Amino acid sequence: MTFSPDTRIAVVTGASSGIGEATARTLAAQGFHVVIGARRLDRLEKIAEDIGGTALELDVTDQDSVDAFSAVLPRVDVLVNNAGGAKGLATVAEADLDDWRWMWETNVLGTLRITKALLPKLIESGDGLVVTITSLAALEAYDNGSGYTTAKHAEGVLHRTLRGELLGKPVRLTEIAPGAVETEFSLVRFEGDQERADKVYEGITPLVAADVADVVGFVASRPSHVNIDQIVVKPRDQASSGRFHRTT
Ligand code: NAP
Repeated sequence: MTFSPDTRIAVVTGASSGIGEATARTLAAQGFHVVIGARRLDRLEKIAEDIGGTALELDVTDQDSVDAFSAVLPRVDVLVNNAGGAKGLATVAEADLDDWRWMWETNVLGTLRITKALLPKLIESGDGLVVTITSLAALEAYDNGSGYTTAKHAEGVLHRTLRGELLGKPVRLTEIAPGAVETEFSLVRFEGDQERADKVYEGITPLVAADVADVVGFVASRPSHVNIDQIVVKPRDQASSGRFHRTT
């Protein structure tokens, strides 16, 4: 990858769909060269072509994949930790250990791996920004959601810890905690069961991916002395993780 020295590079993980794809489009429109990573390279390539960015295969649960991804980046100005998701809904008593492992590997260790790999380049940029997409699940517990809520809490604490550890370094840190956003999230959670996924958004007007991308774009366009620490963004129809106004 060769660029003129003043080209600012934004990295978005999990950009093959949903919030990540929308964020890549927003940051490209703001003038960043956007490097997008995820496991589905075919999807990434189409998006990269649209936005004049770079598509790179990335599995945040695999250290070799993260190393290969970070090795080709000449610089990093913005990192959006977005790759993540949920698997299943189960009580603690009936927890599925494999689902928990997937959620912790992807949301927590995945964010740790990629952040650790790119931190030196973010610092070197002289004005770095790390945005982590956590969730309301990083702030609240809900019944049957502990695999996801514990992982998102851990991801949030990892991100917030960096805020203190990086004081004095030229890197800003922003956590964005969305409520219900209609993406492929519920389809992944329910293993492709479209009917069950649709029920999550039934009778409400959920956020769409572009609503969250707008927030990332706002954060990334503030002057470098302004650190927006945390933003919670929910549909008007949602008061908390489990409390919705539904018309049906
Ligand atoms: P989505 O449409 O399912 O997108 C998830 C993205 O993560 C996909 O691009 C997926 O790409 C990527 N991903 C999953 N595992 C990965 C891995 N091992 N390595 C690299 N990329 C991986 O869902 P979304 O709603 O946009 O989710 C984005 C983020 O927002 C997640 O962290 C999610 O927890 C969070 N969030 C979502 C909601 C919501 O209601 N939708 C609310 C709050 C927070 P590949 O499958 O191609 O790898």
